[in-house]
Amino acid sequence: MADDNKVNRIGMKTTEWSVYVINLSPEARERYVTKLTYQEGDCRLPDPYFLDGWLDDPSQWPDISFTDIYFFLIDAPGQFTHDSLRAYKSLKAYEYVKSGYVHPIRYHNVDDKSPFCFLKTKVIPPQRLREKPHQPWICVSKKQGTVYSAHCTCMSKQGDLCSHIAALLFKVDADVRAGATSKSCETCTWDASYHEELSPTPIYKAQKLFNSRLKEDVQTVSATGKAKMADIETLRALKAVCPDAVFFCTIPPFDDEEN
Ligand SMILES: [Zn+2]
Repeated sequence: MADDNKVNRIGMKTTEWSVYVINLSPEARERYVTKLTYQEGDCRLPDPYFLDGWLDDPSQWPDISFTDIYFFLIDAPGQFTHDSLRAYKSLKAYEYVKSGYVHPIRYHNVDDKSPFCFLKTKVIPPQRLREKPHQPWICVSKKQGTVYSAHCTCMSKQGDLCSHIAALLFKVDADVRAGATSKSCETCTWDASYHEELSPTPIYKAQKLFNSRLKEDVQTVSATGKAKMADIETLRALKAVCPDAVFFCTIPPFDDEEN
């Protein structure tokens, strides 16, 4: 009980708000809280970045049509206009979905009384696969399927709608069209081909994965300078195949004619 009253230096309960929100600038935080407020400020939804219990069950989603998505994108400040949406296939957001950079969508009911629910995903930054993914969420009216508000971890410095939110919306539309929201859909293959979050793995761990294809164990890939030099015949053979390899600049000349 005492924990419920734990309030931090900026007057926000640490049991209700994520560290992400607490660390936003005062202006960005105010914008964020506004996105979760409804009925003229009388009611407030919980912080989606603090919520547990998200479901992987599109059959729970409200009916979200492309019209709902279209008007939300057009009305929000940012890059989306009638013209850019007419050419939606050239948008980054479309490319993210098509190339599998958008994770499967998760759903949160908030609670049975709430008129709104949340949908969220993770979008992997292309070309920077090891970076933390962006985490967009949208708040959707359960009855009407209209998008009420949206946020992404990349937009803390500005209020504009980013490509990651648009990617989440495009993926919602793609999932709906693929029949994922239908109660009878048991095997939806749409989500099977997204990029997993990547983290570096030492070679000795990765070795297990490709052991079956190796004839010998990999002892090390660290350049210690202590490894025995290959014999001169092997070096000649290597140089014949790849004479410009950087490796040959790092060893003493091994053929008389090079001196
Ligand atoms: Zn974003």
